[in-house]
Parts: sequence; C-alpha cells; structure tokens
Amino acid sequence: MPAAQTAPRLGEQNKVARYLGPVCRLCRREGLKLFLKGERCYTDKCAIERRNYPPGAHGQARTRFSEFAIRLREKQKVRRIYGLMETQFKRYFELAERMPGITGENLLVLLERRLDSMVYRLGFASSLAQARQIVRHGHIEVDNQPVTVPSYLLDVGEVVSVASRSRTKKVIAEAIEMSQRRGAPSWIALERDQFRGSMRALPARADLTMPVSEKLIVEHYSR
Ligand code: SF4
Repeated sequence: MPAAQTAPRLGEQNKVARYLGPVCRLCRREGLKLFLKGERCYTDKCAIERRNYPPGAHGQARTRFSEFAIRLREKQKVRRIYGLMETQFKRYFELAERMPGITGENLLVLLERRLDSMVYRLGFASSLAQARQIVRHGHIEVDNQPVTVPSYLLDVGEVVSVASRSRTKKVIAEAIEMSQRRGAPSWIALERDQFRGSMRALPARADLTMPVSEKLIVEHYSR
C-alpha cells in the first residue's frame, strides 16, 4: 500500500513552476523528438519532421558547441523529456549520487520510477504531461489507493491502475488505443484489459532506449 498518498517523496510541491511555452520548440532546441504532444508526435505535423533545426533567427546557422554546452544540452534534454524544473531534476541527481551503483543510471531509473512516467509507459496517457494531469486529477491508484502525486516513487510490484470510475474517460480510452502502437517496455507487466500494470523489475540501462548520454549529465553536475 502506498505510504504517502498526498505527501511528495522528493519534496515536490503539488503546484510546481512549469514551462508553459510551446513544447515543440523544446524538441527543436534539442534536435530530437521528446514526444511531448501525444498523437501529434507520430504524425508528419511534428515540428521535428518539418523544421529540424533550433528555433530562433539564428537557428539554421552553423554553431560549434563548447564542452560545457554539450553537457548542458544533454542535461536539458533529459530534464525536458520528464518535464521537470531544474530544482527538482537536481534533487533526483543528488539522490542518484547517494545510491549504490552508477549515478547516471540511477538517475534514469529514478525518473522511470515516478508515477507519471509509469502511467505514460502503461499507456494510460498519451504524453508525460497528460500523465501528470491524470494523476493529479485522481484517476490513478497505487495498490488500490488513490495517489495524486506525480512524483510518487514506485517500487517493484506496486500495482498502478486506473480508478474504476475513470475507465470510461475519453482521454484515457484514446491514450490506451494509441499506446498499442508503441507497446509496453519489457520491465513492465501490463494487463491492459484490467487497466493495471506494475514493474516486474527495475529497468536495466539497456532497457532504456532513449538516446541520452547520462555520463554527460554526471559530468555537468560534477564540474
Ligand atoms: Fe516534439 Fe511531439 Fe512537437 Fe514533434 S510533435 S516536435 S515530438 S512535441
């Protein structure tokens, strides 16, 4: 059973500052699809498909990045994939540093253990932003108890499910249908018809297929 239903585990407040600008700009800035807009990301309307260069007047100019800029960009990329502000992200990094094992890998696993990440991976939301909203609005349960904190850190075996009263919601039904094309990752046991799933085990680095170099993030914070 979840130990804290309303208290965030990493000191995250329920209302946190958030980037409210156009999210496709973030993908263009990082030069890759961050999948922040759900269905649109899989169509040719995706801004990366149309204009894969950084936004702004000098976006198409050739730029040589310094070592610092390369490490910074990698950190920003991961932070943006998970939709976190700098303070939150740094807190995950510090926690990852204190854990046994490789800091960069610990960081990625911690981010995947967030409840909103799991809701997205299970296919109950079409983007991480939508997953956060669905959690905050009380549509998600952990071990049959409502949890409204997107940063809730899941343990292996805890069962994440859509609350029974929310199973007919259009937004969730559409997300589930759409998710079938991306499938569930191997470390997740999904029972789609029961609207629930859990982590079989913590993901190994090889399971996390996003193109990021966590080593550069560690170097960024260790400079
Ligand atoms: Fe990124 Fe999705 Fe926008 Fe494409 S449509 S640029 S993947 S947020």
